[in-house]
Amino acid sequence: MTLATTKSINWDAFVAALDGIEVIRDAAQVAKLSKDYYTYSPILVPLLADKVGDLVVRPANEAEVLAVAKACVQAQIPLTVRGAGTGNYGQCIPLEGGVILDLTKMQAVKWIKPGLVCVEPGAKLLAIDKQTRETGWEIRMTPSTYRTATIGGFISGGSGGIGSVTYGQLRDRGNLHAVRVVTMEDEPRVIELRGDEVQQVNHAYGTNGIITELEIPLGPAYPWAELIISFDDFMTAARFGQVLGDSDAIIKKLVTIFADPIPSYFVALRDTIPSGKHCAFVMVAEPSLEPFGDLIQQFGGSVCYRKTAQEASKGTMLMEFTWNHTTLHARNVDPSLTYLQTLFPYDKELKLLEQMYHHYGNEVMLHLEFLRVNGCIVPAALQLVRYSTPERLKAIIKEHEDSGAFIANPHTYILEDGGRKSIDPVQLAFKEKVDPYGLLNPGKMRAWTER
Ligand SMILES: Cc1cc2nc3c(=O)[nH]c(=O)nc-3n(C[C@H](O)[C@H](O)[C@H](O)COP(=O)(O)OP(=O)(O)OC[C@H]3O[C@@H](n4cnc5c(N)ncnc54)[C@H](O)[C@@H]3O)c2cc1C
Repeated sequence: MTLATTKSINWDAFVAALDGIEVIRDAAQVAKLSKDYYTYSPILVPLLADKVGDLVVRPANEAEVLAVAKACVQAQIPLTVRGAGTGNYGQCIPLEGGVILDLTKMQAVKWIKPGLVCVEPGAKLLAIDKQTRETGWEIRMTPSTYRTATIGGFISGGSGGIGSVTYGQLRDRGNLHAVRVVTMEDEPRVIELRGDEVQQVNHAYGTNGIITELEIPLGPAYPWAELIISFDDFMTAARFGQVLGDSDAIIKKLVTIFADPIPSYFVALRDTIPSGKHCAFVMVAEPSLEPFGDLIQQFGGSVCYRKTAQEASKGTMLMEFTWNHTTLHARNVDPSLTYLQTLFPYDKELKLLEQMYHHYGNEVMLHLEFLRVNGCIVPAALQLVRYSTPERLKAIIKEHEDSGAFIANPHTYILEDGGRKSIDPVQLAFKEKVDPYGLLNPGKMRAWTER
C-alpha cells in the first residue's frame, strides 16, 4: 500500500486529537530531531539530507504512546521512533515525513533485581548504570555513546560495544530478556515478548513495533581502570589484543587496538601518546591489574596512560575514544574520512588482518575492537577509510568480503543491507501482524517493501 502524502494531512486536527501530549512544530527543531549521525557516510548524505518529519511528539508514558499510535493509524500517518538520534546510518531519519516519536521523556528505571533491570526506552545508559551500580551490577555492554544514547535506541539500532569482549553482541540470546511493544493496528495494543520472542523486534530499527519497556540483563560492576599501552609495531599490538581477549582470568571490559596514525587524531591525547606508536586502549578490573602488568611486559608494551576507576569517573572516559567515537574524533580533524565495520574470521594468528594491514596501508587504517562471538574472541574492525569515490569504497568492501571478512555495511539505511544480509522472516511476520499499514519507519525494511 502507498501512504498518502503527509502534505494532505490536517495537522491542526491531528495535534488537537492528541489532547495535551507534548508536540514540537517549530521547523528548525523538527529538522534537528529528524536527523542522526548519518553524515559519517558520504554515500548516505545525498540520500538523506532533505528528509524531515512533519512534527515531533514526545509522549511521557505508554498510555500516551498508545494514543499517538492510534491517531497515526486513523490518519494513516508514518511514524518514526527516535531515541537520542545517535545512530550512524539514518535509522531514525523519516524517509516519508510524518510523526517523529521522541521517547526521551520515558526514562524511568522501574525495578532492579540482582542481574536484571527493567527500564523505559528513553533511559540513557549512563543514567541506568548510576542506579544499578549502587546495587553492585551494571549494564553488560554499552555503546561509546554511553552518556547520550537511550536503551531503546541501542537495542533497536545498535550492535554492541564496551563489554562485548565478555558478553558478545546485543543479538546474542540472553542479552535482552523481555520487551513491551506498542502496535500500529486499528486498535493499537501492548504486546509483551519474552525470551526468544524478543528477536522479533531486536535490532529492527523500529520498523515493527514501538518498544515501551525493556528487561536488560546486568553483569557484576567492577572498578574499571583505564590504560593506554603503546607498541612499536602494529601486529604486536594486535596480538596483544587477541591474547588479552583470550585471557579468561583477566577481567576486562574493553580491548581496542589502533594502528598508527589513528592515535594522532585524538587531539586531547596528543601529549600523552608518543607519536608514531600503535596503541591498545583497555578497561581492566582493578583486581586484575597485576597479572595484566605481566601481559604488558610479555609483549614489550609501554603504559603511557593510566587512571584508577576513581579517577576515570571524572572527565572524558577512555571509551569515548573507542568504538565509533574513534571515527568522530578522526572526522573532526579530517572530515573526508569515513569508515567500515568488519568482523574478521576467527584465527588466533590474525593472518587476514595482517594481510589487510599491509595491503591498504593508510588508505584503510586499522581500528580493532575485540569481542566475543560464539565463545571465541575475534577482532571486529571499524577501519578509518580515506574516501575517494563510491566505486573505490565498494571495491574495498568487496575485496574484504572476497577474502573472508564479514562487512556490516554502514553506508546503507536499509536494515537487511547492513549487517544482516538476508531478510528475517520472523521480523517480517511480526510486522505484518502489528503494523499492517506499513506506517512504522517506512522504507527501512526491505522484506516489507519488496514483499
Ligand atoms: C560517536 C558515536 C559512537 C557510537 N558508538 C557505538 C557503539 O559503540 N556501539 C553501537 O552499537 N553503536 C554505536 N553508535 C551508534 C549509536 O550511538 C547507538 O546504536 C545508540 O545506542 C543508538 O541509540 P539512540 O538512542 O541514539 O537511538 P536512535 O539513533 O534514536 O535510534 C536508533 C534506531 O532505533 C529506533 N528506536 C529508537 N528507540 C526505539 C524504541 N523505543 N522502539 C523501537 N524503535 C526504536 C529508531 O527508530 C532507529 O531506527 C555510535 C554512534 C556515534 C555517533
